[in-house]
Amino acid sequence: MNRVYQEGKAFAKSYIEPYTDLTDKESRFPEESFKALGEQGYLKLLIPEEYGGFGRGLEEHAQACLAFAETCATTALCYMMHNVAVMCLVTHGSDELKKRVFADIIENGKFMALAYSEFGSGTHFYITEMTAEVNGDLTTFNGKKSMVTSASYASYYLVLAPSVEEGKINNWVFPLEAEGLSFELSEWQGLGMRGNSSSPVSIDNVTLDSTHRIGAEGSGQEQVFQVVAPFFITGLGAIYSGTALHMFEIASAHAANRKYPDGSALSNIETVQIHIGNIYKQATAAKAMTMEAARAGADGEADALAKILSARIFASEAAIECGRLAMRVGGGKAYNKALPLERLLRDAYAGQIMAPSADVLSVWLGKALTGQMIP
Ligand SMILES: Cc1cc2nc3c(=O)[nH]c(=O)nc-3n(C[C@H](O)[C@H](O)[C@H](O)COP(=O)(O)OP(=O)(O)OC[C@H]3O[C@@H](n4cnc5c(N)ncnc54)[C@H](O)[C@@H]3O)c2cc1C
Repeated sequence: MNRVYQEGKAFAKSYIEPYTDLTDKESRFPEESFKALGEQGYLKLLIPEEYGGFGRGLEEHAQACLAFAETCATTALCYMMHNVAVMCLVTHGSDELKKRVFADIIENGKFMALAYSEFGSGTHFYITEMTAEVNGDLTTFNGKKSMVTSASYASYYLVLAPSVEEGKINNWVFPLEAEGLSFELSEWQGLGMRGNSSSPVSIDNVTLDSTHRIGAEGSGQEQVFQVVAPFFITGLGAIYSGTALHMFEIASAHAANRKYPDGSALSNIETVQIHIGNIYKQATAAKAMTMEAARAGADGEADALAKILSARIFASEAAIECGRLAMRVGGGKAYNKALPLERLLRDAYAGQIMAPSADVLSVWLGKALTGQMIP
């Protein structure tokens, strides 16, 4: 498995870690890291070889997200969204659209984002209140998306809007420079994931021709459930597994290095050892579940969906629990930000609410295991 993961960890050390503190403290999008992600080929990880990419799939996507999240959850999250959008284009986009967008990613380091959630439908992001008025080959869109990660930094946005076919939706690629697209960047006040620029996006009379639509008329829902969901949900599993592993790394190093006046270390205390053990247990279990889910998904196994949902739910909850225990190990130094554990705990809290939320996914998991329709 591990090549993309190992190389991703080395990449993160050199090109993500130097900006991680500033990303959080100044709510600053990790632009330098994204430039390097383009230069070192990570933005084309999932682009097929015939379009100049590496042609990799769900497992490598999970490995890269995991590796980056062990250094910076924010950067990993923005990267994850890009991969999901790329994969949707890979599987359902026209040849012309793929050529256009993939060339821009590969040659110019551009990247993609998901503009799905709306103020109305919230966590049920596949329900859209956008309007889409068709006039010949042109469609004019109006509406507002509520929280778009990488807003204004990404060059292409996947947008869900109603189809002319009753009850169906379409998935569109909106270029950053489309007239009528505007960003409310000052609105992002996240508890964590502070550098990811998750801002509202207004869509006012944006007019696009049909070459910007992904796939056949009305096929958006199928794209969301067949491609976006597995890559997105597995990617989130990887991100929160990586965040939990990062917490283990910091808490265990701190416990070993923090010495009392009698020369004993924090790690000599049995209660601390138990906390470290519990953090390790949960973080490695989350990673193992996520990697197994990605493998099952890539192999098209019958229980892949249940594994993917389980991994994402488990990893989101494990990251919060690991953060709670790591804060105890870190004590006043963690609380007073001498250690980055409180940042990681704040980042971890995004896991349970990002759509589809851990609660919604728990319902889906139960339905999947009992043969019911989702959602
Ligand atoms: C860090 C971050 C980055 C994000 N990035 C993006 C992005 O790039 N693109 C994008 O489109 N969106 C993004 N979002 C938005 C996100 O995915 C959700 O759509 C959004 O957080 C939903 O918020 P809400 O308050 O409207 O949820 P609501 O729909 O109001 O839900 C509130 C709570 O009720 C629970 N709930 C609602 N319905 C049910 C149900 N049927 N069963 C059980 N529980 C239920 C939910 O679990 C949730 O906790 C991001 C969010 C965060 C936190």
